Amino acid sequence: MLNFPAEVPHGFEILFWFWTITTFIVGTCIGSFLNVCIWRIPRGESIVSPPSHCPKCNHKLAWFENFPIFGWLILGGKCRKCKLPISPQYILMEILTGLMFVGVWLKVYYTQQPIFTLFPYLIVTSLVITTFFIDLKHYIIPNETTYFTMIAGLIIAAVFPQFWDTTVWWRALLQSAISMSIGYLALGAFAKVGEWTFKKDALGWGDVKYIAAISAILGLNCAFFTVLIGSILGTIFGVGAMVLFKKSSKTVIPFGPYLVAATYIWILAGTEISNWYFSLIHR
Ligand SMILES: [Zn+2]
Repeated sequence: MLNFPAEVPHGFEILFWFWTITTFIVGTCIGSFLNVCIWRIPRGESIVSPPSHCPKCNHKLAWFENFPIFGWLILGGKCRKCKLPISPQYILMEILTGLMFVGVWLKVYYTQQPIFTLFPYLIVTSLVITTFFIDLKHYIIPNETTYFTMIAGLIIAAVFPQFWDTTVWWRALLQSAISMSIGYLALGAFAKVGEWTFKKDALGWGDVKYIAAISAILGLNCAFFTVLIGSILGTIFGVGAMVLFKKSSKTVIPFGPYLVAATYIWILAGTEISNWYFSLIHR
């Protein structure tokens, strides 16, 4: 059974389920949009026009066909006009986004963080999902997504300065901007050193901009955790892939998916993992 925080007034349990389901539904709608981003941004297409259509017969989707999860189910996974099968990727992405949004909501709820923290966390969760799939397939982290997150980070700092432990909007804005610069310069220096020593791009500039974006919106603690845990995950899976699939070390494995996995872990349990780690050191 779920344990509710002690001070939750009687009757709040119903609200809890209401918000959990609402977060899931909002997540599926955002997931539907992220699908469009993942498909169109790497191809240099606009994400707003033309509206969703069948890639084969150009049939424009009616509002109910566009509806997350149910749209796909009603159509039976086929285009209504030409019966071309629609990839199950759409419904899977909607469910995945819904579940990851619920994960963030549960974290905020159980650690009793202010409700506005959902904004930066859910924006970053969306960035995590698009970056994971775009980088895995196209080996890029597009500027459209990282720049959007940087701007969102600066705006959130000014609107919710409490997120940066201050009540003064310009101080929070300044902290966010400084974090972004430090994140960019620190990882940029890493990337430059990598270029000089290995004579190839060990670390792409997309990765550098991703870390700058994370620094601007969630701060340097999250950026540091992301780089550290992302590198560990990358090493474990990279060596694992080499052993299992006998791939050479020259096979390009994008770093982005490991970085974003680490960021999502930070959102869910970053503080807890850090505290546990420091308690080991100070024993
Ligand atoms: Zn069609």
